[in-house]
Amino acid sequence: MTDEPLLRARGLTKHYGERIGCADVSFDLYEGEVLAIVGESGSGKSTLLGLLANELPATAGEVLYRMRDGIVRDIASLSEPERRLLARTDWGYVRQDSREGLRMRVSAGANVGERLMALGERRYAGIRETALTWLDRVEIARNRIDDRPTDFSGGMRQRLQIARNLVTNPRLVFMDEPTSGLDVSVQARLLDLVRGLVADLGLAIVIVTHDLAVARLLSHRIVVMRRGRVVETGLTDQVLDDPRDAYSQLLVSSVLAA
Ligand code: ADP
Ligand code: MG
Repeated sequence: MTDEPLLRARGLTKHYGERIGCADVSFDLYEGEVLAIVGESGSGKSTLLGLLANELPATAGEVLYRMRDGIVRDIASLSEPERRLLARTDWGYVRQDSREGLRMRVSAGANVGERLMALGERRYAGIRETALTWLDRVEIARNRIDDRPTDFSGGMRQRLQIARNLVTNPRLVFMDEPTSGLDVSVQARLLDLVRGLVADLGLAIVIVTHDLAVARLLSHRIVVMRRGRVVETGLTDQVLDDPRDAYSQLLVSSVLAA
């Protein structure tokens, strides 16, 4: 064990031309920790997640990640093969739109198995067995293994995305609004499932959400963003029950009033 952070964001800044996506964001994330990034639409949440996950180049600042071998790397300095391997094995990324997070034209089993193949697994029977185990874990019936995600409900697709991302035993999973657009009861089931997996697997998660109830249920710590900047950060209960910043207070009270 180590008390070094798993990931450190330092002064992360992204400009889109004149427009500011996010500005000067810094925080540490530890192993097994769930961090929620909250804020209204346009506050820079998805931009920040894209920078953390190495999907967008930063205008300034850096992301330091402690690799499995213990060496801390600036993710911008990774070679293309290193970057790809990290994204396919040690990291997961669950997208709001399942069509971006899944391959819709291949079976559920292949969606889960694909990342195992990226790790070098070649035995078909083993891959299928692992895929079945993961379908069980995310509560998708085994007899759906050969069906395509196009035949799945929205909730099932999100659960399949989770299986696809977790099958390689990642240490860090990014989630961008994984429950929005789903019916409330479907959301609750998905959140329950994620909470159980986090507890079982000791995953670190960075989850973007505009829904403070999601942050309350899942996260240990919260980062509140406004216009690309962090206005408050702290333990989830503390930020939601006793926000210090005027904007956080507004955000929390508008939810309470709703
Ligand atoms: P959120 O996820 O909190 O809704 P975003 O990160 O998507 O916020 O957006 C933050 C700001 O950056 C917004 O003003 C948005 O219009 C702008 N932005 C996001 N993506 C782009 C892009 N590809 N090109 C130009 N501006 C963008
Ligand atoms: Mg967004």
